[in-house]
Amino acid sequence: MRGDPIAYTYDADWHCPDCAIARFGLEPGGRWPRDDARDSEGNEVGAVAPWTEWWNLDGECEVLACSDCHEVIANAHRVECEYQGGEEPCDIREEYRV
Ligand SMILES: [Zn+2]
Ligand SMILES: [Zn+2]
Repeated sequence: MRGDPIAYTYDADWHCPDCAIARFGLEPGGRWPRDDARDSEGNEVGAVAPWTEWWNLDGECEVLACSDCHEVIANAHRVECEYQGGEEPCDIREEYRV
């Protein structure tokens, strides 16, 4: 599974793989949403790979969460954050940390 997208982008928001597949259906023979999937604006569905830099980190730790089921997919911590070995407390509420 390593290397599979951790999230998808469509309708100008983040979505977890389960919700993306529930909406668009599975690509035949694949583990991802159909390659011909288009969102409500006709745009291609974007994939967020494990190595995609989805965060901005402009001063705060950030959460990547599904806009449908609200599952927390990933966190990104700024360098000062205690989770990165820094001295400042994390901005992310405990229930959203993964
Ligand atoms: Zn979801
Ligand atoms: Zn943090």
